[in-house]
Amino acid sequence: MNIGPIGLVLLIVIALLMPAPNSQATYDLVIRNGRVIDPESRTDAVRNLGISNGVIKAISSNNLSGRNVIDARGLVVSPGFIDLHQHGQDEENYRFKAMDGVTTALELEVGTGFVDLWYAQREGKSLINYGVSAGHIAARMAAMHEPLAFLPTGDAARRAATEAEINDMKQRLEDGLKRGAIAVGFGIQYTPNASRWEILEMFRVAARYGASCHVHMRHAGVKEPGSSIQALEEVISAAAITGAPLHVVHIQSTGGPATPKLLQMIAEAKARGIDVTTECYPYIAGMTDIKSAIFDEGWKEVFDIDYKDLQWAATGERLTKESFDQYRKTGGMVAVFSMTEEVVTAALKSPLTMIASDGILENGKGHPRTAGTYSRVLGNYVRQQGALNLIDALTKMTLMPAQRLERRVPSMKNKGRIRIGADADLTIFDPQQIIDKSTFQEPAKYSEGIKFVLVNGVSVVKDGQLQSVLPGRPIRAPQN
Ligand SMILES: [Zn+2]
Repeated sequence: MNIGPIGLVLLIVIALLMPAPNSQATYDLVIRNGRVIDPESRTDAVRNLGISNGVIKAISSNNLSGRNVIDARGLVVSPGFIDLHQHGQDEENYRFKAMDGVTTALELEVGTGFVDLWYAQREGKSLINYGVSAGHIAARMAAMHEPLAFLPTGDAARRAATEAEINDMKQRLEDGLKRGAIAVGFGIQYTPNASRWEILEMFRVAARYGASCHVHMRHAGVKEPGSSIQALEEVISAAAITGAPLHVVHIQSTGGPATPKLLQMIAEAKARGIDVTTECYPYIAGMTDIKSAIFDEGWKEVFDIDYKDLQWAATGERLTKESFDQYRKTGGMVAVFSMTEEVVTAALKSPLTMIASDGILENGKGHPRTAGTYSRVLGNYVRQQGALNLIDALTKMTLMPAQRLERRVPSMKNKGRIRIGADADLTIFDPQQIIDKSTFQEPAKYSEGIKFVLVNGVSVVKDGQLQSVLPGRPIRAPQN
């Protein structure tokens, strides 16, 4: 058909008069007039977001129309927070994470020995996204026929492995990685008789699958021999020898006063091309099981603390020699006040650290970090103390953890960012209000100032209230 020159001009005029397709589209949800902060593009500007099918479809300063609208005027719209270190992986814990702005909670330090079962137990039943590593601790307990528990207290904690047992552990980690485990987890301080060769063998398996090794290191504190500096040398060496990416967990609680030195070592190793990252949490006390090998003879010297610096989680009481000996027989969680504000602030300010909680609550008992880590960084350390700025803090909670995992888990390229095509995992909060409320006395208190949280486009927190929805999805590496 020949439309002639007049027809052509008419067609062009009609085309120019037609609105751009996006301005007429109606999205499932529009977030209007929020202060959008995206760490990847370093955007910090008022924008409207259009979301459909759980994905960010439009980012615009123009008006967008949506079947549902969130008015975010005066609020920050951030990528949802990604916690690389969350032990509590059940309905109770996910509620507290969501109310602290976390949209993805991953158990990468201790991990599991049963990857398929772990994911199956959470499929379709989770408020937020979830995922797990293949755990060296779990592999060691299984290889040594120790009854399953969160942390070992028997053979797996106390004796060296045979060659056959090391081979068994390698096979278990490999099986877990084939089933899509995100990473490989280690708690070497909980398995102090794991030889350096045993750890190297596990790193070799991780390296073959491009899996990062998330390590609670062999030693804590500054006392030589057996300092955190020596422990960091071990795992940086393992990364250099094997090629496995290394992620050092809770550097401030392991390092204590040596933390700035550990951070310097990590910066230097990175400058030499070794793939090493780290994380911290914003509290001056850690928490662990009193029966674990951490409290074997010499713990007071290692941490430079005494019985009074231990707080029994179940009751809040400070310990004495008598109560310590008593509880050591029964087991249970104990808070360890071994850090200073200077150490915590130095760790938070370092551009090397991500924020990760190390959280677990059981029937409302536990460490306040489970419920308060992210709001505490944003309220106490960003707003009140000015220790770091908002976009840098958000980078540590979103983009950096996504990037840590995306080589092995490509779906993480669509998390930790606000860009078109990214998953609509978003945390919308009031930067003037956000604050943690959980304490060592009352750890199960929701943070304040988190107004809306979206997981895969679904509101799990709305006007500051939890919703009865289950949009969480598995975060899992490709299976082979
Ligand atoms: Zn740990």
